[in-house]
Parts: sequence; C-alpha cells; structure tokens
Amino acid sequence: MVKNALLSVVFLFVLVSAGYAQSSDAAMNSFVTGLLNKMTLDEKIGQLNLPSAGEFTTGTATNSDIGVNVKKGLVGGLFNIKGVEKIKAIQKVAVEESRMKIPMLFGMDVIHGYETTFPIPLGLSCTWDMKAVEQSARIAAVEASADGIGWTFSPMVDISRDPRWGRVSEGNGEDPYLGSQIAKAMVKGYQGDLRLNSNILACVKHYALYGAGEAGRDYNTVDMSRIRMYNEYFPPYKAAVDAGVGSVMASFNEIDGIPATGNKWLLTDVLRKQWGFKGFVVTDYTGINEMVDHGMGDLQTVSALALKAGVDMDMVGEGFLKTLKKSLAEKKVTVAEIDLACRRMLEAKYKLGLFKDPYKYCDEARAKNEIFTDANRKVARQIAAQSFVLLKNRGNTLPLKKSGKIALIGPLADAANNMAGTWSVATKQDRSISVLAGLKQVLGNNAEVLYAKGSNLTADAVLEERATMFGKGLNRDKRSEEEMAKEALDIAAKSDVIVAAMGESAEFSGEASSRSDIDIPETQQKLLKQLLATGKPVVLVLFAGRPLTLGWEDKNVPAILNVWFGGSEAGSAIADVLFGDVNPSGKLTMSFPQNVGQIPLYYAHKNTGRPLAEGKWFQKFRSNYIDVSNDPLYPFGYGLSYSSFTYSDVQLSSTALKGNQTLKASVTLTNTGKYDGQEVVQLYIRDVAGSVTRPMKELKGFQKVAVKAGESKTVTFNITPEDLKFYNSNLKYDWEPGEFEIMIGSNSRDVKMQKINWTK
Ligand code: BGC
Repeated sequence: MVKNALLSVVFLFVLVSAGYAQSSDAAMNSFVTGLLNKMTLDEKIGQLNLPSAGEFTTGTATNSDIGVNVKKGLVGGLFNIKGVEKIKAIQKVAVEESRMKIPMLFGMDVIHGYETTFPIPLGLSCTWDMKAVEQSARIAAVEASADGIGWTFSPMVDISRDPRWGRVSEGNGEDPYLGSQIAKAMVKGYQGDLRLNSNILACVKHYALYGAGEAGRDYNTVDMSRIRMYNEYFPPYKAAVDAGVGSVMASFNEIDGIPATGNKWLLTDVLRKQWGFKGFVVTDYTGINEMVDHGMGDLQTVSALALKAGVDMDMVGEGFLKTLKKSLAEKKVTVAEIDLACRRMLEAKYKLGLFKDPYKYCDEARAKNEIFTDANRKVARQIAAQSFVLLKNRGNTLPLKKSGKIALIGPLADAANNMAGTWSVATKQDRSISVLAGLKQVLGNNAEVLYAKGSNLTADAVLEERATMFGKGLNRDKRSEEEMAKEALDIAAKSDVIVAAMGESAEFSGEASSRSDIDIPETQQKLLKQLLATGKPVVLVLFAGRPLTLGWEDKNVPAILNVWFGGSEAGSAIADVLFGDVNPSGKLTMSFPQNVGQIPLYYAHKNTGRPLAEGKWFQKFRSNYIDVSNDPLYPFGYGLSYSSFTYSDVQLSSTALKGNQTLKASVTLTNTGKYDGQEVVQLYIRDVAGSVTRPMKELKGFQKVAVKAGESKTVTFNITPEDLKFYNSNLKYDWEPGEFEIMIGSNSRDVKMQKINWTK
C-alpha cells in the first residue's frame, strides 16, 4: 500500500517535472524566437563573437574597442576579464546601450579553482574521490560567480597516454572510465542548478582527442581509428554531455584529416545526433583562423566550414565577425545556419537566467565575502593532501618526527608563486603556501627548519625562462652550482633529515610546454646525489605536472612523495603528510614510464599476437624491447600509504552468469599497518575473447575506503552486462558473451583474479 502510494507520488513528480521542463522549453523557444525575429544579421553574428578582454585589463572596458563593439551588439561574450566592477560596467553597456539589450556571457579558465586553488587536475584525479572533485568544482563556481564569471572553460577531459605532452597536467590521466566519472563530478560541481547565482556554465574540452597528438607535441596531428576513439578517447566527453554540460570546446587538432573546428562528423553527427548534446560549441582560441594554417582555405572559407560543421561561437579570431555576412551574400552559408548558432547562444543565456537578471553574477558583497575564504582554503588543504602520491617509502622513512633539525633544500622549497601550478589564471600566486611556510606553520617551535635553495631549476637559463612564465619566476640564482650546493650541504650536515623539494616548475607543464626529456633536470639530480651522499635520510618532495622518468631516484632515494602542484594550500598539505597528520592515499592516474622510449605506455594495452611469457621481460620474436622491460616504473592506480593493506582472494556470487544478472565480486581488505588509512580498491575486467581484440584489463569500478589500523572491511562491486559493453567494429555498443577475468586490487598491476563465464 505504502509502496504503491509512494510510487504514485514519484510518478506524479516525474510527470510534473517533465511537464515543467516542456513548458519551460516552450517558454524559452518563444522568447528566443521573438528575439531572433527582431535582430539584424550583424547582431546575430555579433552573438557568435567571443573576444578576449586581455588588452583592456589595465584600462576601462567601456572605452576600449571591445566596449564600442559591445554597444553595437557585436559581442556575445568576453573572457580574460577579472573583477566584478569591470564585468558589471561592461554588462551595463550591453544591456543598457546596445539596441537589443542582450546580456553578455563572461568566461574564464577556472580550471582548478578560482582564487582558492586546488591541485592541478592530474593531481586532483589522483584523489579518486569524486566527492572531493565535485566539491572543488563547486567552490570554484561559488568564487568565480561571486566575481562576475558565469562560464568556465572546464572540465578538460582529454585522455592522454603521453607524458611528454605538457597538458597532461590539466587532464585526468590515461583512463576513460575514471575520466568519465571525473567529467561527471566536475560538471555537477560547476553547473548544479544553473538558475542559482552561484552556479556557472561548464565547458567540456578539448573535443576531441587533443591528448593524442603525435610525439606528445602540443597542437600536433592526431590520427586514430574510430573504434579507438569510441572506446578509449570519447567516453569522458560523452559523460560530460550526459551530465548536461552546457557547452563544448572544439580542439585544435585534426581528426580524420579535418580539424575538429571544421569537422561536421565530430561536431554534429557524433556530438548532437548520437549523443544528443543541446548546448553550444565554442572554438578554442583562434581555432577557426588556425584552419588556414592547417591548409583548409582562406579565412572566409574556414569560417563558413566551422559554422556549417556546428561551431556556434568563435573565440578571439573574429572569422565569423569578419566573413559570415559576405559568405551569406555569396550563398556559402545560410540564414538558417546563422540563426541556429545564434539561437544556441541565446538559449545558453536564457538557461543561465541572464535575461531575467544580467547582473546575477555581479554582487559586490559576494565578491568581498565569498572568495579565498578560510573555509575554502581549509577544503583546498584537505584535498591537496589527498592528491599526493607516495611513490616510495623505504624503511618507513616517512612520516617524519616533529622534532630536531630539518634541512629543506631545493628550487621549489620556497616558491609560493609556483604552488598553484599551471592554468591558475585567477589566483594571486604569491598567496599560496610554500613548502617552507607550510613546514614552519605545522612544526611551530617543535623543530627547526634550515633552508637553502641548493640549485636553480635547470642549469640552462633559457629553458628556465620558458618554464617559469606568467609571473612564476624562481629568482634565478647568480651563484655557481658549487656555491649553491655547498650552502645546501652545510645545512644538511647540521640536520637530522633532508627534505628535497625538487622537480618541475609550474610552467614546465601546461599548454605549449611539451618536453622530450622528462627527467628531473640534471642540476637538481646532481644536488640530490650530493645530499644522498651525506648519509642522512632524504625525502624527495617531487613537484611535477606530468609523470616523470624516475628510474635513478627510485633506486636511490629512500622516500618519494609526488605532490604535483597542490594549489593555494600546497605547503601546508605537504607538511600535513610529511609529519603524518594525514596518511597519504593518492593513486596514480597515469603510468610512470621507465624511460621516454616506452611512450605511449598505458595499463589497458592489448595482448598482441606475441605477448611475453609470464614472468619474462625479454624473449626474442616477442613484443618487447631488448634494453628495457615493457613494465612501467609505477603502474596506473599505484600509490603507497603509511599503512599497509592486504587483499583476500576475490569472492564471486557466481562464476556462470546469464543475461542481465548481477555479479557480486568482493574482497576483504585489511589494514595491517599502524595508521588508520584510506585505500582505493580497484576493479578491472578483461574480456578474454571478442569480435575485436580487447584490452588486457579495463578499470570498471573503484571505491575509496577508510580502514582503521588493524581493521578489515569487505568491499563489494556489483557488475552487470553494462560493465562489459564496448564499441565493436560496426561502432555498435554492446557486450559479447564468453569468458571474463574479474580482477580486484590496489593498482593495475597487483590484482587478484577469478574467471567467470557470462552467456546472453
Ligand atoms: C586553450 C584553452 C583555453 C583557451 C582560453 C586556449 O589556448 O587551449 O584550453 O580554454 O585558450 O584561454
């Protein structure tokens, strides 16, 4: 009875909300149509124009060229403008001085936080904590929206298996399943209910395959089979679309020989027809103009190509603004195509509620009270600590005691302006907590910290300049390597333990920061060797925006804590983990290769027809190298804790399944260490035989579990045929019956396995 009543209520709710959605859609349609009917062609094209405000951030927006264009109705949105007063002033021009009074959209790269910065996305993904990921996006949305921003160019969900590519720092690593979960959580965190003043529009990017550029070189050519696109690279973009993302950014690269920005198959057939995307598509920065260099024709040709392919908004390049009118006159585009793009832009503004209140994000009181708050910084500190990955801890070197003398050495030790990492546009870099400040804060008077820089970032001054752009300089020291090292060795001699803060600077990774050598720079390595030679325990606090090649460090340094770039609270979070106030729980989301020659290296590889025999690393006429094993140095999913966890064998509810049954797969996890800890339990599945070759294993689930010292917990995964599906050679998404291996473990290498059979 109660159940029936409940069902009726739920049914009624579904009906009412569907009805509401329909009527609000109808209201939006008639509003937008009404507007479109009154707009001139220039005004319609103006809505598709997204300039960058860079040039007037020091002057007043209203007097600039852009201000004049806003008045004429030739600007749909603006980005790279920071500050609620400035934004309010230009919005006022749009809604009071332009003929149609259409509000503008204000965008920004709010990639991993606004002023309160969270770890770089690659680090954030290593938390494997979807609540934390969502919360970081939520806080970013609250802060950005308090300062005038209603649209972020995030999440970036490009799968990448090439750590030479600098932008792996901005993504979530190599795995489509994990990447999809993160895409969903980010979109939810930013957008939630878009009618609220604290929620902003998300933009999933860079659609598509941007992380697969040849040789890890930024903006480079991509060439990939469709089956690989659908199975391995598309899922996170699709997950964002399924989560209701409001906008999509086209990528710079080509796909099947046609740049994404002009690729109709990608932007219309896949995105809209197959996935049902209803928002708008924006180009990346001058993406349309770059098609001229790609060799697709002149500006007029490529602008028409982009519009016809499904681009709605032109970022920076003004290809639409300058050529669409002419193309219409020459019948190269149609009014219907321009109207459609304009409609999508107006719909986005409508959904955000900007027609009701163009100043919804311009509340000065919020700007004063809701940005870089103590509460937000506290969350940033907790999340940063969760993102660190303990790569090595020989003889329990870590955690350190809060006593004695600690030598803190390295070019990243006192570098507040590098802690936020790459793509932290809105933050005030110097406000971040450096390692030195963090250590002092956490230690108080309990221990003494002695600091020396010890070395520059690299011996090569020109390279250092490239790696420290955007106000993230590292005060290059004029002293000789020897002098700097001597100072460091002197303080090391007086200390009980050495903490070496080394690795990459913030801008060693990020956009246009590809590297062909992903070692720790030689001058730092040299210093590290000297520090180890003192015989004192050495902890390497490793800063990195990508997986590095750490073969030597792994062999020789007793403890390595990979801290990525932790954001505003990096230094405090590092201290929390070094001294054991927080037990590390991060796990890698990208494989760390032994050397660059192994790249691309990823756990979900195929078996090939000539796999190595179990336990071998070289066999003639097998798929391997003669000089290095096929294994990564640290596998996907790997990360240590101050505790140790043991896994029981995998228990299955059945080994023979049929149709839509659910398989329960469990392990008992025991914390055998002395510390309470968290473990990310990972489920992998292998489809042993298929109509197409299948990966050796694929992540299909994970659970982050807190387990107290000495305690055991049972962790169960429910597996259904949905988890077995893949795109076959006809690009049909389905599962195939047969044998499967069910694997559960603490990383992609160390798993326990059981076989099952699943029939249709
Ligand atoms: C990047 C995008 C970014 C855009 C706007 C481009 O160079 O590729 O990720 O959103 O600039 O700043």
